[in-house]
Amino acid sequence: MNIGWNFDNSYARLPERFFTRIHPTPVSAPQLVVLNRSLAEELGLNAEALASEEGVAVFAGNRIPEGAEPLAQAYAGHQFGHFNMLGDGRAILLGEHVTPNGERVDIQLKGAGRTPYSRGGDGRAALGPMLREYIISEAMHALRIPTTRSLAVVTTGEVIIRETELRGAVLTRIAASHLRVGTFQYAAHWGTLEELKALSDYALQRHFPGFENVSNRYLFLLEEVMKRQAALVAKWQLVGFVHGVMNTDNMTISGETIDYGPCAFMDVYDPATVFSSIDTQGRYAYGNQPYIAGWNIARLAESLLPLLHDEEEKAIELAQEVIERFPKLYETYWLQGMRAKLGLCTEEEEDKKLIGELLHLMYTHRADYTNTFRALTLEEWEGAFCTEEFRDWHTRWQARVNRQDMTKDEVQQLMRLNNPAIIPRNHRVEEALEAAVERGDCSVMERLLHALSHPYAYTKEQEEYAKPPAPSDRPYRTFCG
Ligand code: AMP
Ligand code: MG
Ligand code: MG
Repeated sequence: MNIGWNFDNSYARLPERFFTRIHPTPVSAPQLVVLNRSLAEELGLNAEALASEEGVAVFAGNRIPEGAEPLAQAYAGHQFGHFNMLGDGRAILLGEHVTPNGERVDIQLKGAGRTPYSRGGDGRAALGPMLREYIISEAMHALRIPTTRSLAVVTTGEVIIRETELRGAVLTRIAASHLRVGTFQYAAHWGTLEELKALSDYALQRHFPGFENVSNRYLFLLEEVMKRQAALVAKWQLVGFVHGVMNTDNMTISGETIDYGPCAFMDVYDPATVFSSIDTQGRYAYGNQPYIAGWNIARLAESLLPLLHDEEEKAIELAQEVIERFPKLYETYWLQGMRAKLGLCTEEEEDKKLIGELLHLMYTHRADYTNTFRALTLEEWEGAFCTEEFRDWHTRWQARVNRQDMTKDEVQQLMRLNNPAIIPRNHRVEEALEAAVERGDCSVMERLLHALSHPYAYTKEQEEYAKPPAPSDRPYRTFCG
């Protein structure tokens, strides 16, 4: 059966410093656990063929599709503020698949064996974390948040050793590209000026059409990445997504969310929310994410300095100007999104204050973030929120809503489009993973995936997924996969 691969390998044409050619390490007994048929279709791939022995062999790294030139990418990164040489330690890029629409996407196997960048690691991944990435990345996509996607998860038939013995698995990840801020840091730190330039030109070609018409294309690159990251992090904040490990190597140039390790969605609204067991200082707490994104952009700017201007002082000035625009731009995107969540299509000076007051009420009442907006959308209230203060806020909000030329239905429509009825709640994700990993029962996950594939639908079927966790399920902790 013809799968429909159409490989090209533009990344492999970059200077050799940026990668090492290497094949995945074959595994003994691959088995398909989940296949994303609708994504396969979008990519112009034959889902039936992908589910066959041949497709599964590709997902497992046992078979290299024709035209693919597998490699591991080199990159660096600031991990919790510390600069390190990294690279794909357990991921292998098969190459780029060019879809029938002419779209170019990376096909990457995560958990495909050791590479020269593995350091002490085994190059492998466990089934639980790979399914978790599959569920959350697909949920993010359905929430209309730019993200890498998940095409399939296979088990390897092999055991991997963590605290306990776990089932090995490989995730096939689809991305606009895997270029990261850390790729630029790597080029700036270890590469020549020519190599940094080659990487930058490559990124421009691949992601930023229009660069031919600007006077300073590398400044344009910095600006465009800055804009995409501001837009992305605003979207995270608006749905209560906590990435958990916003190291510079986990921040893409394309503006897609990447690396679903210790991420999770916030239940109770609290800017200090942290899920990751290793983030003991709260560096990547929910409320810190916009600042960290700005910090990461400053690291990209530093890496690009030699290309921005021949004179260092001028280069710094140019970079500074872009970096300084980040907080304001982020806030603009966030305010836009918040207004829509509250059914507002016009702008008033006082909106920011009105939004801040709601968030403060949510914070003091330990209210569920998603369900507060859900309740406002559906005009339903529950216990904790029926206070004098809230009624007062509600009256002012209604007065604000009424100052625009919109019918009640139009307001509700706008709110439904911007407030998800459901998010991938941690206790639901855990329940699905437990069934799949411990009992080999994927039906719980399939139902969850189905519900999460239309988060703005407000259907009866979704209601059970909207319930917040029982108090005993808190606090939720995540671990690096
Ligand atoms: P992350 O925290 O997921 O961004 O990963 C940080 C670095 O550790 C990257 O270079 C990964 O490729 C590498 N890494 C993570 N897990 C493993 C593993 N099991 N074996 C080898 N390298 C790994
Ligand atoms: Mg990473
Ligand atoms: Mg990771």
